[in-house]
Amino acid sequence: MTDINKNSTKALADKYIFQTYGRFPVVLTKGKGCRVWDEEGREYIDFVGGIAVCALGHSSPLITRVLDEQSRILVHVSNLYYTRPQAELARLLVENSFADRVFFCNSGAEANEAAIKIARRYSNEKYDNKRNNIISMKGSFHGRTMATLSATGQEKVKTGYNPLVQGFKFVPFNDLSSLEKAVDETVCAVMLEPIQCEGGIICPDEGYLKGVRDICDKNGLVLIFDEVQTGMGRTGRLFAYEHFGIKPDVMTLAKALGNGFPIGAMLATEDLSSAFTKGAHATTFGGTPLATAVAKAVTESIINDGLIDNSRDMGDYFKGRLGELKEKYSVIRQIRGMGLVIGLEMEIEGTPIVNACIEKGFLVNCVQEKVIRLVPPLIIGRKEIDLFIDAFNDILRTI
Ligand SMILES: *Cc1c(COP(=O)(O)O)cnc(C)c1O
Repeated sequence: MTDINKNSTKALADKYIFQTYGRFPVVLTKGKGCRVWDEEGREYIDFVGGIAVCALGHSSPLITRVLDEQSRILVHVSNLYYTRPQAELARLLVENSFADRVFFCNSGAEANEAAIKIARRYSNEKYDNKRNNIISMKGSFHGRTMATLSATGQEKVKTGYNPLVQGFKFVPFNDLSSLEKAVDETVCAVMLEPIQCEGGIICPDEGYLKGVRDICDKNGLVLIFDEVQTGMGRTGRLFAYEHFGIKPDVMTLAKALGNGFPIGAMLATEDLSSAFTKGAHATTFGGTPLATAVAKAVTESIINDGLIDNSRDMGDYFKGRLGELKEKYSVIRQIRGMGLVIGLEMEIEGTPIVNACIEKGFLVNCVQEKVIRLVPPLIIGRKEIDLFIDAFNDILRTI
């Protein structure tokens, strides 16, 4: 089939970009708040938010101002020198979390690489190189670099990439006795997402994360929380771990930290930090004054502008309204999530539903074939949720 317009965005992208993404046939050209527009001027309400990234919404005036101001002052100098925005963002993250120190990088995968490296280096030093295996969870997702895909508990991201990075074992999520059995004197860390997001919005059972913490404490294991998706107010707390009355030793952040400006961070306690000595780890672009100035503004806004409360309140409201639909339509199997990370497990394939939503002007996406994932900007209000519920009701009625 020949494309009618060889110069269309879709034609160019399909010809010149690797075919690694199965894209929806929509070309987005602008966004404002919770809405985006395509090249034909069609409006969509965005329940994907750049995959849980655009917490403050699109074209946030705050981000525009900080980007503009900081880009006129200093963009990048490398980590050979101190810069003020980086130091201030680190203080802000430390003062609002369990952590004592921060390493800045550029993505979720890079943050998880740093987490894996610090856990191994800490334990190799402490236990004479005898402990370096990491237990992670089946169904998890930690990224696409070699180490992070090796740590990921889903075969589809690993296919074709042998040999993988050694030293990862997998146990089922929400299964403390399997975890306990997997621990031996070769294990140094447990790595998990407090809520498995890419895995289908799987929430931890009551007491599970506390149980994981106890097993780590009993065996001297480093507990790594991948909060790349659950962090930054998404679940109705600044960090998801706060819901569970425990603290990890290491935590990774990325997605919403820069509201779309690329930045990642690995946070750890002072005890762990001792393993990252001078020269132990580095990155050219990590924590540029531009990225950290933006992330500081984003973090301050999430904390100070009521977005965490809104995430909790709108999450509850959204789940309540989805619950009304579940009463009416048996095709909805289960509603899961905390705050504004919500999964709707369906009895049927999600793709036709996602396409029907797009057709009606709503961006949503699907994980694990049957789970509709809803991760809108944290500024979302009742009005947008109500519009979605009406449209979704129409879709379910005719499906
Ligand atoms: C998105 C995601 C990652 C990977 O982040 P990238 O920025 O795509 O490398 C890692 N862990 C979790 C939990 C994620 O949701």
